[in-house]
Amino acid sequence: MPIPSETLPPGMQVTPLHSFPPREKWDDWVEYDAKAWPKKLEKRYALVPTVCFNCEAACGLVAYIDKQDHSIRKLEGNPLHPGSRGRNCAKGPATINQVNDPDRVFFPMKRVGPRGSGKFERVSWDAVLEDVAGRMRQALLDGRKTEIMYHVGRPGHDGYIERVLKAWGVDGHNSHTNVCSAAARLGYALWSGFDRPSPDYENAKFILLISSHLETGHYFNPHAQRIMDGKIKGGAKLCAIDVRLSNTASMADYWLAPRPGTEAMLLLGVAHVLLQEKLFDRAFLETWVDWRTWLEVRKITELTFARFVTELTQHYAFATPEAVAKETGIAAERLVEIAREIGKAGSRFAAHVWRNAASGNEGGWQVARCLQFVGVLTGSVGTIGGTNPAPANKFVGKPFVMPPPQDVWSELLYPREWPLAHHELSFLLPHLLKEGRGHLEVYFTRVYNPVWTNPDGMVWMEALSDEKLVGLHCALTPVWSETARLADYVLPMGVATERHDLMSQETHAARWISFRQPVLRTLLARQGKHVEWTYQANPGEVWEEDEFWIALSWRVDPDGKLGVRKFFESPYRPGERITIDEYYRHIFENSIPGLPEAAAKEGTTALEYMRRHGAFLVQDNVYKTHEAPLSEKELLGTTRDEARGCVLKDGKPVGVIAGGMVCVGFGTLSKKLEIHSLTMDEWKWPEFAEPCYIPSHVHENHLDRTKGEFVLISTFRLPTLIHTRSANSKWLSELSNTNPVWIHPSDAQTLGVATGDLVRVATRIGYYVNKAWVTEGIRPGLVGCSHHLGRWKLKGDENGVNRWQQQVAELSKVGEHQYRLRRERGVVAFEGADKDGANVWWTEGGVHQNLTFPVQPDPVSGMHCWHQKVTVTKGKPDDRYGDIFVDTEKSMQIFREWLGKTRPAPGPGGLRRPLHFARVARPTDSAYRIGE
Ligand code: SF4
Repeated sequence: MPIPSETLPPGMQVTPLHSFPPREKWDDWVEYDAKAWPKKLEKRYALVPTVCFNCEAACGLVAYIDKQDHSIRKLEGNPLHPGSRGRNCAKGPATINQVNDPDRVFFPMKRVGPRGSGKFERVSWDAVLEDVAGRMRQALLDGRKTEIMYHVGRPGHDGYIERVLKAWGVDGHNSHTNVCSAAARLGYALWSGFDRPSPDYENAKFILLISSHLETGHYFNPHAQRIMDGKIKGGAKLCAIDVRLSNTASMADYWLAPRPGTEAMLLLGVAHVLLQEKLFDRAFLETWVDWRTWLEVRKITELTFARFVTELTQHYAFATPEAVAKETGIAAERLVEIAREIGKAGSRFAAHVWRNAASGNEGGWQVARCLQFVGVLTGSVGTIGGTNPAPANKFVGKPFVMPPPQDVWSELLYPREWPLAHHELSFLLPHLLKEGRGHLEVYFTRVYNPVWTNPDGMVWMEALSDEKLVGLHCALTPVWSETARLADYVLPMGVATERHDLMSQETHAARWISFRQPVLRTLLARQGKHVEWTYQANPGEVWEEDEFWIALSWRVDPDGKLGVRKFFESPYRPGERITIDEYYRHIFENSIPGLPEAAAKEGTTALEYMRRHGAFLVQDNVYKTHEAPLSEKELLGTTRDEARGCVLKDGKPVGVIAGGMVCVGFGTLSKKLEIHSLTMDEWKWPEFAEPCYIPSHVHENHLDRTKGEFVLISTFRLPTLIHTRSANSKWLSELSNTNPVWIHPSDAQTLGVATGDLVRVATRIGYYVNKAWVTEGIRPGLVGCSHHLGRWKLKGDENGVNRWQQQVAELSKVGEHQYRLRRERGVVAFEGADKDGANVWWTEGGVHQNLTFPVQPDPVSGMHCWHQKVTVTKGKPDDRYGDIFVDTEKSMQIFREWLGKTRPAPGPGGLRRPLHFARVARPTDSAYRIGE
């Protein structure tokens, strides 16, 4: 039965679903039991919305809960969700596998025996809270505010943990950003102060993607459907820049596979054509770009826009199509053709880079800087069919009280060598610990498996095994993992149907929020049954972080003397501990415009509205937020600087004069788009202050082809895989269970290998052995291997990776710093609670490669540069599929080598980092100063 299009919120009426239960029937939905066929057996379901937790996109889901036995029958898309509009990728519905996986962690577990011995016993939540809170309390009493660290893998919530950490007064927020998006963030932030883009694909005329967005890229499903809308409805042209023939590239009008690391040069070539052929938006540039600074730093006295255009054109005169062709390998005519198409699209040019080239290369952050340069030239910033800065399209509600910022700075998070990093140097944590730069008393990993996900996993193993470096490690995780086995506590956390989180993402030109919720608890509440803690409604004693932090914080400061407890007291019942309902009720009632009114229309509360709908559209069609006028209050005390086109307060720009109005502008110091970054000058990187091309660490000049050297591309994933948690989905594991090494036929011939042959891929710290896949879908001279596969359980461990992907391996120390991981057994069928265990037919399970990657932190952005220079040879006689060898002494040498490329703080005024550069859980200004 269709949901009538006109009843959906604006912006969602384009392509309504044709078959979905109408919302008024969600309390009692009847379907026939498919398994009972041909008998017509009616099943009655309660439908409860939640939000997918299997990537960052936050698509809506609806859980079908059997009203008889309260089992979840299936999960489908939520048609009321403005971002995903009822659609999901394969990973959304696969949540049901994660719920029912017999190998998941059901109860809190405590290590017995030495750390890393793989032996655990069940404990109560009460015992966990008492022990962990005691260690934390002592650290806080001692003033050791940098010794408590929270390290997140899959975030999946907005704003919650920052509040908790500030309440504790610690500097302890760590993330996975620097193995993911740090480079792109810096490139974008230097332009506008906002570190991510929000393309309006569905209204674009030309879409440029530097990665495989249609299949796996950022905001995968919400973006993919809008890219297709743009193509189908508006005839948008699609260009995919990727060294690999991704599914996206196969759907594109143009597939460009340049030499890896030359993407910024390619984009400068586009800019060159736009400038030479005057295909740029003069009016936009004149008003919104800080061109005056560009002239001033060159000491040009003729401060006119016309002179800027002349100088700019001259500056990029070197990036001729021929020069670009020579460097990138992309034909000059093709570049010109694409640049002209982009120029024709004008303000309807939508573009995105997130991982891919940005995260592969030293200097990869300039790929984002140069891509945005093309966006600025076309005037497509914030326009219909253009690319918004992300804050325009994301909405984060405010909690009832925000603790003050912490007054300390952790150099384990932000070492002074990377003052401009976006953000924490998270993948260097074990290297920094081993170098004696700090100690952790309590370390929380949160849905995070750094041993397996990060580069240099053996160094992670060494550090996490050492109790002198990490006092207590709590792994908050839905599944056993390579990291969890090294924890002291393994604490079961919920999947998408078992936890509260509030999420918003910049999926399109709108602002929305979505509410993840423990669906069984919600159903019990509807039935009038009180549940104190979510783990009492979830399978086993699976909990959620939100409530865990409340309970833990309460124990850390039972009498309130530490000043922590007050932030966890109810805003409605003074002195009492806050409940999760109260926490979200306050946000929904007080900080989401329009939500209380929408709820009132339905005769319900804002909290109940969110529990029933799962999402709320705060604002639709959000464009050009930089043109919002400054309020009268904001204008008070300002002076006009007509020459610079801005207004000043206390000598600093606070708004931009545009079309006779004073507008808020962008998040930069100048309030304009900064083509020249004075911040880069001040922080010792003047040569990179403007959009430019930085040759990569895997540039052709660094390769010795005579020695069989290749560039390994590891930055792609298969669309049906998550990270660690794919292994707790049988459907996803069945769909994707091998990750062979892609080799072009010409290279395969040189190497003498065919599809299925073993190859040894050697990095600077070790090697791995995998099977070859000979394909024309990769540029010659490169090899590719997707991450997200190759899970292992160590021989002798009681618990381990979920059996859908479990390989049993032996880890041997074969030298003082040398390790060999050898597979003893592949994936096998198994008997158990899930009958499908007996149907497992796949055996390989993939090969892990990240263990063999040394850390390569970009000296500016702090991004791990994933591309590796490798030597590829035929497998040796003793090699076995899945073999891994690593030398961690070499790992540490290479860490120090890259450390030597940095230009450390202090910057101006003794700062560790520019005050205007964002930090997650930002401390006080004084903490930004070294020595204070
Ligand atoms: S894109 Fe797929 S995995 Fe990501 S949130 Fe949406 S349904 Fe889940």
